Amino acid sequence: SKTTPYQHHTAAVHSFGKVPLGLKRKGLRIVVTGGAGFVGSHLVDRLIERGDSVIVVDNFFTGRKENVMHHFGNPRFELIRHDVVEPLLLEVDQIYHLACPASPTNVVGTLNMLGLAKRIGARFLLTSTSEVYGDPLQHPQKETYWGNVNPIGVRSCYDEGKRTAETLTMDYHRGAEVEVRIARIFNTYGPRMCLDDGRVVSNFVAQALRKEPLTVYGDGKQTRSFQYVSDLVEGLMRLMEGEHVGPFNLGNPGEFTMLELAKVVQETIDPEAKIEYRPNTEDDPHKRKPDITKAKEQLGWEPKVDLHTGLPLMVSDFRQRIFGDHKEGGT
Ligand code: NAD
Ligand code: UDP
Ligand code: UDP
Repeated sequence: SKTTPYQHHTAAVHSFGKVPLGLKRKGLRIVVTGGAGFVGSHLVDRLIERGDSVIVVDNFFTGRKENVMHHFGNPRFELIRHDVVEPLLLEVDQIYHLACPASPTNVVGTLNMLGLAKRIGARFLLTSTSEVYGDPLQHPQKETYWGNVNPIGVRSCYDEGKRTAETLTMDYHRGAEVEVRIARIFNTYGPRMCLDDGRVVSNFVAQALRKEPLTVYGDGKQTRSFQYVSDLVEGLMRLMEGEHVGPFNLGNPGEFTMLELAKVVQETIDPEAKIEYRPNTEDDPHKRKPDITKAKEQLGWEPKVDLHTGLPLMVSDFRQRIFGDHKEGGT
């Protein structure tokens, strides 16, 4: 293979990456890009709890130090402020690549992390998205479906960025024999979710707590499937440790219209909460629901937390962050 400026680092590489989940083994060295974010910080908690050494690489674009602060002082935890658009030199066994701004830099960051994985022989996991299916013509969506994405729409940068990231991941797998894993994540919610990034669950919960009307876009009959974050993290870890490349849908097949979601939020937080209709954005997918047969069969995984159980767990965290009783980043 070709000589790169980084090759002198290769000597330090070990290969604990192939030990199956559940076996006693030496702790792994794991990078989590985007580890100060919503999903990443929960993943970091599980990896640290399992005995691994974790390096979080994050530029705090949407993530927060508060999400990982409880690990400060632990010698198995390290936090690096770094933009993955810039090359990165590290020696690790596994790379969970979650860092992802909804912009073209998504692709460059993924390329760098694949280059890193190739140089050090680490296993690489990409967190892709159900958005690769676009506004799907197949329902529910199986991994074999190629999707229906508008390349020039307002949401395209994210969708196409992730599609390109999947392509690069498979090319590094086939061309450079990098061990890769691809997860297609469906809508996920839980504690530490961004308060103000406009996602429907965080909007409704924050609105109900603040006694503001719940903003339903369009007629509210569009559907989504909402997965609790602990289920997702379990799926990501099983995927990383298992033998299958994927892609795998990781999502909760329970399907809700936005009006049904609003009702669950009313029941959980405030039965008096009003609903206010707003015009919907262009290209909003009408339906989305994962077919998770493949993950069930090959990873032995399925979600355990339904919306009625998961939502209250998120609400207490949002309450603390909105009304500020000085506790951050609940669990
Ligand atoms: P998040 O915004 O909370 O986390 C992303 C993290 O990446 C943040 O901490 C952010 O600061 C960091 N980051 C962004 N750009 C970076 C860069 N250039 N360099 C270094 N760090 C950078 O989002 P999340 O919900 O935790 O999502 C994690 C991953 O899962 C993302 O790849 C996302 O596309 C994917 N995903 C999430 C969902 C969901 O519903 N939450 C659904 C599908 C896919
Ligand atoms: N890269 C990195 N860390 C490494 C190795 C590579 O960030 O340890 C980056 C490198 O800067 C390049 C990208 O990953 O931009 C792809 O690397 P690769 O070696 O696959 O491509 P090449 O350098 O041969 O074009
Ligand atoms: N949505 C809504 N009210 C909001 C925010 C979003 O009705 O305050 C709708 C949005 O139009 C979409 C669905 O909720 O149909 C899910 O939106 P989100 O941005 O959470 O996820 P995505 O569209 O990426 O699946």
